[in-house]
Amino acid sequence: MEYFKANTLRIYQDSAPIFNKSNGKLYDSNAAIFDVEKIRQDFPILNEVINEKPLIWFDNASTTQKPQTVIDRLTYFYQHENSNIHRAAHTLAARATDAYENARETVRHFLNAKSVNEIIFVKGTTEGINLVAKSWGKQNIKAGDEILLTHLEHHANIVPWHQLAMETGAKLIVAPVDDQGQILLDEYKKLLGSRTKLVGLCHISNVLGTVTPAQEIVNLAHEIGAKVLIDAAQSIAHIPIDIQELNPDWLVFSGHKIFGPTGIGVVYGRQDLLDATDPWQSGGNMISEVSFEHISYRPIPKRFEAGTANIADVVALGKALDYVQNIGLTAIANYENELLEYATLGLKTIPGLHIVGNAMEKASVISFLLDGFAPSEVGQALNKQGIAVRSGHHCAQPILKRLGLTSTVRLSLAFYNTKSEINHCIKALEKIDC
Ligand code: PMP
Repeated sequence: MEYFKANTLRIYQDSAPIFNKSNGKLYDSNAAIFDVEKIRQDFPILNEVINEKPLIWFDNASTTQKPQTVIDRLTYFYQHENSNIHRAAHTLAARATDAYENARETVRHFLNAKSVNEIIFVKGTTEGINLVAKSWGKQNIKAGDEILLTHLEHHANIVPWHQLAMETGAKLIVAPVDDQGQILLDEYKKLLGSRTKLVGLCHISNVLGTVTPAQEIVNLAHEIGAKVLIDAAQSIAHIPIDIQELNPDWLVFSGHKIFGPTGIGVVYGRQDLLDATDPWQSGGNMISEVSFEHISYRPIPKRFEAGTANIADVVALGKALDYVQNIGLTAIANYENELLEYATLGLKTIPGLHIVGNAMEKASVISFLLDGFAPSEVGQALNKQGIAVRSGHHCAQPILKRLGLTSTVRLSLAFYNTKSEINHCIKALEKIDC
């Protein structure tokens, strides 16, 4: 029996992909872990018909679909609670403020942060990284300091640091990866030094699915006194995060990648660090007193939430996190890992298909190329079959360039996807004809 290592588990090439190693039997992973068909009923958009075919949503790394409970929460807010927050004595202000602050507590609990003061609401991962670069970064990074990134980063975790380096005279250092898309840890260690002030690291690569050794890197960076920002845009919905264990200085994520609304995201920041940092945006809501001569700021987290917040979407994000927590991230990660193995095995049987990025630790993202077809042609052909995948540079041009590429097709899975959908996709790829 031939096998290969797709990520951390062995897969048997000539058996059906899901193989129970304890009893040697094939089993239905969907039923064994949770009832995926029941879960799918929570997502109304999965009933859409695209080009006369049932929608198959394999673009989860770009954005996730929303369960009815999140959609309902938004509607309920506008029907029963809508008001600005923190600023009025009337009933709706109290309802909206409670809903908003309850969501902050939900995020705190989800991450296991010590305090709600460490949770700041922003537009998304991009705005979160900009917040850190343009507040703490501007105040603390000096000429000659080094900002250490990796080759895997999304543009959101490159551009703000590049701008900061240009403005301050600091230097961007890029840690290399191997041909499978794994960070070369020995090389990484050599790049950490007394000049390193900030380490920026994606938890999961949005192009290759590589799960980075975040815990080890946080520990190494802290040993030399550097601060660490984790970009959790891709990990938040796929692997459990305990912030007190991982112990980054900041961690950022977007609500829309975890079944919540677009336009809302979170910066977790260590309390002492946030306390010592001046805000980057200013105006209403973040001040304590204002005169033309003197201004004082409110304590964290409000100091970093200038202007009217995206209140309804904060509240709905809280609902999305509750929804995910009810299913359980460990169960989600296990199920998605099986889907990943199933899809990897199936895709590898397609003549001329090459998977890009085969890290040992991988999440449910598969980039690939198909001989004879541009990635955009593959994307269009799959769309004709109702299958949504991403094709392009995935806002991460440096890693593609490192691998000698300009674009790939990216198939990214979530817990509402099924083996049957993967089978449809494989059949469509086998028959592709542009
Ligand atoms: N970082 C990573 C790893 C991402 O995948 C993304 C979104 N594709 C972002 C940052 C940016 O997220 P947003 O566009 O929601 O701000």
